[in-house]
Amino acid sequence: MDIQAELISIGNELLSGRTLNTHGRDLGAALSAIGLHLVRDTTVPDETATIEAATADALARVDIVFVSGGLGPTVDDITRDALARLLDRRIVTHQPTLDHLGAWYARRGRTITPAGARQALVLEGAVVLSNSVGAAPGERIDLPLGKTLFVLPGPPNEFNAVLGEEIIPWLKTRHAGVRPKLVRIVQTRGIGESDIVTRLEAAGFQPEGIALGFYPGMGRVEIRLTASAEQEAEIAQAEECLLDLLGDHLDTTG
Ligand code: ATP
Repeated sequence: MDIQAELISIGNELLSGRTLNTHGRDLGAALSAIGLHLVRDTTVPDETATIEAATADALARVDIVFVSGGLGPTVDDITRDALARLLDRRIVTHQPTLDHLGAWYARRGRTITPAGARQALVLEGAVVLSNSVGAAPGERIDLPLGKTLFVLPGPPNEFNAVLGEEIIPWLKTRHAGVRPKLVRIVQTRGIGESDIVTRLEAAGFQPEGIALGFYPGMGRVEIRLTASAEQEAEIAQAEECLLDLLGDHLDTTG
């Protein structure tokens, strides 16, 4: 079963090169580990219409969509408005989050400001996902046709906390029958990609149903074999074959 997801990261700073977008890497790794696939990683500016259109497009393609950033208290935090328009839902205050924020301010001898209180706003009908390291919670919105929209805060530590503590456990339960793909890695040194391919082609190396990826860098080429969970024997045989064909160029230094 191929369960596909897309990510939409929101923020002008990600497009101008001021901030390195790390969410795709983190989400891709977390989903692969439970057998789901991140198939597209889109970054859009802080523009309501663009966020709305990108989310609509992604929801038309896949079952799970993640939207991150633009949930905070500032004027450029417009994600909620864009999603409310797209889904035709109201924006409401989530009282437990507001109470939590109020207590946070009170502990510091302050009263919550209207701007601070905006972080307790969620889409009507959303399941609120707690954020153990920040103010704005995440949200899960269950949509028709079994589709799911997750809304997450932008700061990487908050994104990863909500993802790891709330979303991955939920997805694991929901897709309990899905097993992660099998991956084998062969590292070579002192032989270029084209020479590797020439050798493999000459030997007729074309393992069926196994995806091959070549990742060159720093004088080495990493070869990645990926197969479905049922292909244990096939991937082991393909790895064995690669080790034989490239035996004089294996890099075992790790
Ligand atoms: P806040 O409540 O802090 O405003 P937010 O959910 O509104 O959070 P943003 O304002 O979009 O999120 O971003 C907050 C911080 O997180 C910024 O410093 C931003 O650069 C960083 N950030 C946002 N998205 C990403 C991303 N995809 N990768 C790395 N950093 C990101």
